[in-house]
Parts: sequence; structure tokens; C-alpha cells
Amino acid sequence: MTAPATPGLLSVEAAHDAILAEVVPVGTERVATPSALGRVVAEAVTARISLPPWANSAMDGYAVRAVDTGAAAEDAPIELRIVGDIPAGAAPTLTVVAGSAARIATGARIPDGADAVIPVELTTPLDATGRPGPRGRDATGPLPAGCLAHTAVPVGGSIRPAGDDLLAGAILLAPGSALTAAAVALAAGAGVDALRVHRRPRVGVLATGDEVRGPGQPLGAAGIPDANGPGLRALVTAAGAEAIDLGIAADDLADVLKRLRGGIEVQADVLIVSGGVSVGPYDVVKTAMETIGRVDLWRVAVQPGKPFAFGVAPRPEGGHPILVFGLPGNPVSSAVTFELFVRPAIRRLAGRLDLFRPADRAVLGEHVSKSHGRRAYLRVQTERADDGAPVRDDQGRVRIHLAGGQGSHMLSGLAAADALAIIPETDDSLPAGAEVTLWWLDSA
Ligand code: AMP
Ligand code: MG
Repeated sequence: MTAPATPGLLSVEAAHDAILAEVVPVGTERVATPSALGRVVAEAVTARISLPPWANSAMDGYAVRAVDTGAAAEDAPIELRIVGDIPAGAAPTLTVVAGSAARIATGARIPDGADAVIPVELTTPLDATGRPGPRGRDATGPLPAGCLAHTAVPVGGSIRPAGDDLLAGAILLAPGSALTAAAVALAAGAGVDALRVHRRPRVGVLATGDEVRGPGQPLGAAGIPDANGPGLRALVTAAGAEAIDLGIAADDLADVLKRLRGGIEVQADVLIVSGGVSVGPYDVVKTAMETIGRVDLWRVAVQPGKPFAFGVAPRPEGGHPILVFGLPGNPVSSAVTFELFVRPAIRRLAGRLDLFRPADRAVLGEHVSKSHGRRAYLRVQTERADDGAPVRDDQGRVRIHLAGGQGSHMLSGLAAADALAIIPETDDSLPAGAEVTLWWLDSA
């Protein structure tokens, strides 16, 4: 959807294109599989072994020849001689021959000769004199001399064949995919001890403002606590990158420059500055960006999102330039512009292919209005059922309501939102009941 933006303003798409054109994924490193949660695969991960590596038992029971059980029935069981015990982890050395069975544990390797397992529940143990014990309920205790099989089992019954799950050499994880907990289990289970992933991008976060105070600092008559530094660093972490705290700069070019250069020194891949991006007398961030590099764009037709600046700065050590974002000081604007422009860039840097939030169809619960010619991203809350699931109408659309005040300084509305509703450039207002697209945000 490319919408006409107000003259002099860049469309959101054009801004995305310009930003993402500068982004090249960061380098790679090998990490141990158990430490790879959330990391992005850089080289296809292939299975070292087939799973299961060998046919094994799906049940505690007896490994048998299916043909031997063919005539068995509940009241007419057939008798089998027990020739051994196969616990999990033991390589069977015995062979199941006609009329015999081997006790076998779940996950133990199927012995030669056997082609089925009869679950213990469908057997009765026999002692050395042929006396029946209690109907099999568990497969622990001393090995019985024989057993009665009360049912016929098919060839392959209760056996997990070798390679049933996956085959050695199969591609488990493709480059660009992020490791979920299940992906960690898959790789580990297929014998992959370590894998090549992208390193985490390093992202420096600098708050600015003479009024902005760090944690524990007295606020005095005109100070406010820093919301953007902690908030943006949390967003950076949640986006899969390593956040670097560059502190709080005064509205002073030298201070901003010193801190940005500190970020360059510690090899940040991205620098984010909040506040001071406007054209007021104390707004020094654009000048700082032009001093360390260049500003590529800074007027985007988005609300909230004013003012916003993007540029790049060369790395002293060479290579792809550092991405530099100047975000609005208003906390909601800084969080929304992060969502729109910084998060996708961080994800591409991190090696991911899927850059944007999952979208959904939604219906407005009330009338909304916005600035002409800008695309608005409203903080909204979806209606939820008692179990927490979003309520959907007969067309599968979720119902949404404005999450508190929509002012760009209103942190309470931002924190209450579970999604952003997108109101197109062309609509100055929309009535209750109108359909819109939404972006789901992370939940804690
Ligand atoms: P600015 O973009 O610097 O003009 O700031 C716009 C508004 O955002 C002002 O009300 C600032 O006080 C506020 N603001 C700027 N930086 C922060 C911050 N780090 N935490 C909370 N509010 C901020
Ligand atoms: Mg400021």
C-alpha cells in the first residue's frame, strides 16, 4: 500500500526503503545450541543423526514377532517365553525367535527378530512354574519367565521406526530463522551441539534533554525521570539486540557528540538518540548526526513520529556504516518510531528475514480522527475473552478500543496497548465500525 504523502513528507514505505537499503546483516559466530534461544541462524542447520536413530519401542511392554500373536484374544491368550530384558540405553544382544518375547522399555532399541511391541497392559506375567501374576500394569520388577499376550498386534505395532521423525542430513533450520525453544530442542535432539548464528547487533541508546534525569537523581523544580532511555533499551533487547546505555546528554552539541562517539568507540552497529531532533534553539541532534556522518531523511508522513531523523556514520574500523536514528523525545512517539523504523532495521541487521510485526484485521470500537496526510499508528487495546484470547467477529476481525489518551506524551496509553491500529493517510477520521489493519505488539 503506497499512499500519497503530504508534499515535503516521505511516505512510510519510502522511509522504510531508504532505511533498509542501508542495512546489511552483522557477522556471525558459533554458539552452543543450549545458548542459542532467540539467535538468528546464519548457516542452515542440518540433522547430524536420524531421529529416532534406530527403531525403538513406543511403549513399556514386550518385543515380539507379530505373527506369533495372530491368534491371541482376551480370553484365549497365547503364551510367550521371555528371553531377556532391554532397558533404555542398552544395545540388545538377544534375538526374538518364534514363541519368545523380550521385555522392553519405552525408547529402548528393538531387538533382532522382533517386529512389534505388545504393551504391558495387554499381557499377564507368568512365573517359572507357569503361574500367572496380576494382569500387567507395569513393566518393573523381576523379569517374568513368560507372559500371556491377550491381543494380536500388527507388524510395526508400538514401534517408532528409524528416521520416523527426521533423517540425517535434513535441513532443520534455515538461515534467517530465529531459534525458538522448540528449535533449540530440535537442533539438540538431532545431535547439533553448536550452530552458526549472527552475533547480536549492538545498539547504543542516548537520551537527551536538560530536564531529563537518571534513576535516583533528584528531579528538582523542572526535571523529569528518563523514560526513553530505559524504554528504548528494553525495546532493543526485545528486538534481539544488545543495548548499550550511552546515558543522558544535556542539550549541548559537545555532550551529545562525546556520547555518540563513545558509542562508536564501543563498536555500536546502531545509535539511537531520543529528543532534541527538532529545530528548536536547543535541538542539537541533527547537527550531531551531520558531524559524525550524514542525515538521509527526516520528514516522514507518520503520526506520532515528529520529529524523526535517519542517517549513517562511518565506522572507524571500516565496513558497513553505523545506522543513526534521531527519535522524538515524547515517549510515545519515540516508542512508535522505534516500532516503525528501528525495529525492522535491527531485525535485518540481526539476520532476520521477517522484519515487521504480524498484522491483523480489526474493527474500530469508536470514532477516531487524526492529522491530514499522515499515517497514524493509534495505541489500541483488543477486546479479550475471559481466557485472554482476542474476541473476533463473524468475519474474524478483532474489536479494538483506544488504549487511553493518544497524546504523544501519554505513557499510560502506550503501556495499556497491545496493538497499533493503522489509519491511512487518506482518512482524516474513521467512524466506529470501520475496518483497519493492526500490528500486534509484544506482550510481556
Ligand atoms: P524533544 O523532542 O527534546 O523536544 O522532547 C519532547 C518532549 O519529550 C518533551 O516534553 C521532553 O521533556 C520529553 N522527553 C524528552 N526526552 C525524554 C526522556 N528521555 N524521557 C521522558 N521524556 C522525555
Ligand atoms: Mg529535548
